[in-house]
Amino acid sequence: MAISFDLIGKAALVTGANTGIGQAIAIALAQAGADVAVAGRSEPTETLAALKAIGRKVVNIAADLSSIQPVQRVTDEAVDGLGRLDILVNNAGIIRRDDLLDFTEADWDAVIDTNLKSLFFLSQAAARHMAARAADGDQSRGKIVNIASLLSFQGGIRVPSYAAAKSGVAGVTRAMANELAARGIQVNAIAPGYIATNNTAALQGDETRNRQILERIPAGRWGRPEDIAGTAVYLSSPAADYVTGQILAVDGGWLAR
Ligand code: NAP
Repeated sequence: MAISFDLIGKAALVTGANTGIGQAIAIALAQAGADVAVAGRSEPTETLAALKAIGRKVVNIAADLSSIQPVQRVTDEAVDGLGRLDILVNNAGIIRRDDLLDFTEADWDAVIDTNLKSLFFLSQAAARHMAARAADGDQSRGKIVNIASLLSFQGGIRVPSYAAAKSGVAGVTRAMANELAARGIQVNAIAPGYIATNNTAALQGDETRNRQILERIPAGRWGRPEDIAGTAVYLSSPAADYVTGQILAVDGGWLAR
């Protein structure tokens, strides 16, 4: 049997695709053949133009994922617009930085709600659709790809709610993988290393932290959003049908150190 990384005929939903890692993943999924719905709170003008230029079906869904209120609507609009949903990439996320002793409840809740709670309930809504389809005899697999972090493995500095949320993403990825494998759905996560995006602008701009980070990365450079996209395509593809419950670091070697 030929190994396939092909996503032709698949329908994908990517959250937070107006910029950064989500944008690169949405474009890479479309380049691999998928129709793509994007969901987020900012207008993804650049991403929509890139997706249309690739020539796939595109759906744009306005949704603020700081609460779980829109998750069913987002799933329904993706399914209605693309005709089905095979792949969900939970990428939308925020970070709040402050000294541990000053860290506020608001900064705790905002990060947990967006990065962990919405990720779980959007996955649940998508998995219900994928599982119902599988129960109807559809042989194609469902794929859920969560964007975790190095802070799914480490504690970090001045980002306690982010470390808690991303450690939670690793746990819930495994929990979902265990229950959904028998329903034809694989659930995995990508743990990006230090990637140059808005999320890390403060670190890149801090001369000392930037130097410390670069000194520790064996690859000797910040990652680019495109560095994450190939792994997202792989985990979404038939080539990864026997891969589930994994947290795959794409970090230029950081964790190997
Ligand atoms: P980014 O450029 O800031 O992208 C974050 C995306 O999430 C944006 O599209 C953002 O939309 C969206 N988002 C945030 N809050 C949202 C909300 N309430 N509702 C809907 N969408 C929302 O940063 P990034 O680095 O690409 O981050 C993408 C993911 O990778 C995040 O989960 C992040 O934690 C993770 N990650 C990043 C790194 C890194 O080094 N950059 C490392 C590990 C993990 P807006 O533009 O409207 O804010």
